[in-house]
Parts: sequence; C-alpha cells; structure tokens
Amino acid sequence: MTIREAINIGTSQIAPRWPETPYLDACVILASVLGSTRAKLLASLSDPLSQSACEAFMQGVSERRAGSPVAYITHHQEFYALDFYVDKRVLVPRADTEILVETALGFIKPGSRVLDLCTGSGCIAIAIKHTEPEAWVEASDISEDALAVFRRNADEILSGQIVTHKSDLLNSVPGKFDIIVSNPPYLTHSETSKMKNDNWPEPPLALDGGADGLDFIQCIIAAAPDHLNSGGYLLFEADPAQMEAIKLKFEKYKYNDIIIRKDLAGRDRVIAGCYIGKD
Ligand code: GLN
Repeated sequence: MTIREAINIGTSQIAPRWPETPYLDACVILASVLGSTRAKLLASLSDPLSQSACEAFMQGVSERRAGSPVAYITHHQEFYALDFYVDKRVLVPRADTEILVETALGFIKPGSRVLDLCTGSGCIAIAIKHTEPEAWVEASDISEDALAVFRRNADEILSGQIVTHKSDLLNSVPGKFDIIVSNPPYLTHSETSKMKNDNWPEPPLALDGGADGLDFIQCIIAAAPDHLNSGGYLLFEADPAQMEAIKLKFEKYKYNDIIIRKDLAGRDRVIAGCYIGKD
C-alpha cells in the first residue's frame, strides 16, 4: 500500500463518524506513525508503506473512528507553538486557551510570581515560563497523574524548573502571587455526564465543574485574595454563558478592573479581575 492509498482509506473510515477533518486526521496519524511531518508525507505520496507502519496506522485510524482525539493517538498537541505530550490523564490543550496565556502575559513582568492552578498537561504554566523566562512560575493540580504529565512536558520544553504542588485548589499552595491563572473544570455536571456516556475519553475530573459548572471558579475567587499580592490579577478561562455570573462574584469579593477577552470564535472566553487588597 502507498502513502496515498493509506491516507485515502484512513480518511474514508474516519469521515462517516467524524466529518469535520477526516483527511487532516488521517495525515496527522500517519505522519506520527512514520515519525515524519505532514509536509514530507504529502511530498512522498507514491512511496510504499511497510506492513508494520500500515498496521500501526490502521490501529490509530480505528481509535480515531471510535472517538479518540487525535492528540491521544499521536501523544502530541501543539500549544502556543510548543509541542506538548498528552495522554488520557490530562485534557487536550485547546487553541482557545492560548487567549488565556496571552491575556496573562499582558500582566506578567520579569520577576512576577505566577501560579497556574489546575495545570493538567502544564500547557499554560509552561507556555508562560517559555515566553517570559524571568517570571517565577509555579503550578498545581489535585491529580498526581496530571502532575506526572506536567513534569514530562516541563522537562522536555523548559530548561528552568517550575515548582509544582499537589493541591486541592489553593489549599496546599503556600505563598502569594502576582498572577493566578486557571483553566479549571467548568463544564456542567450534565454536560460531563453526557460526554462520559458518549465514551468521551478526557478525564471528567478535568471537565466537571458541578451543577452550573462554576463550583471551582467560585471557590477560587473566594480563596484567591489570601494568595494574591495587592494589585494581583486572577484570570480564568470559562464558558461564554458563565461570564456574567463570574463578573458578579469578582465584584462581590472586591476585585476590580474586570476584563473579558473573546476566543477565536468571537465568544467571551477569558475573564480577569484585579485584587487591590483589604486595606
Ligand atoms: N473548553 C473545554 C471544553 O469545551 C472545557 C475545559 C474545562 O472544563 N476547563 O471541552
């Protein structure tokens, strides 16, 4: 079988169930199997595939067909122009989350103390540290499994280290920060249950934010004043429909300078508030 034939077969097997990007998915899976790039594949469409490459490719295609995100098959996801390792222990980094990183970087200066709460794969903390190496960055997650993925990414991508905490939200994170940034679980419980019933493979622990999806965000807003330096910012990614409720909660806890940023689809996706302090 040639590369062209394999891509065509893969595309036709993925397309009926996942019609959005079947050709791209097949190319990415095959490039990963061959340890190559999509550009190189497309330049060698007539080359033959070995039996073992063909089997590995068909295995990847059947996983994709069964609903696995491509990133769980290739174990790679690009985020902020960096290459992250991912597997089922963490959420796959989303392009929308790059807006959260960009917004946070707007507040971060050399020497800023930054915490990424619910870090998962580490994409936010690592992208920030990579872009602003002079910032002091720490990261926390409740899941030891997620922290193992985090460390693998930090070791691969960064030369400097990031301090990690295994912590239920802010409970076991010592010290104060200038910036706390978080992409916490914010889907509703019923959205997460539906995804689980549809065999969606991402960890529910990283998605389920309770009845209205706001359990963790509300907790963090209430707890963060004890962990923010005066004038420090708290930033979240959240669902567009949650922005008004989050803004009210920020106001209730005396944050100001509240800003909202839109995602790539033009929907409100990132919200930040400044904590001036108790005095
Ligand atoms: N944005 C993710 C999704 O739509 C959810 C991420 C999260 O809950 N933090 O699947």
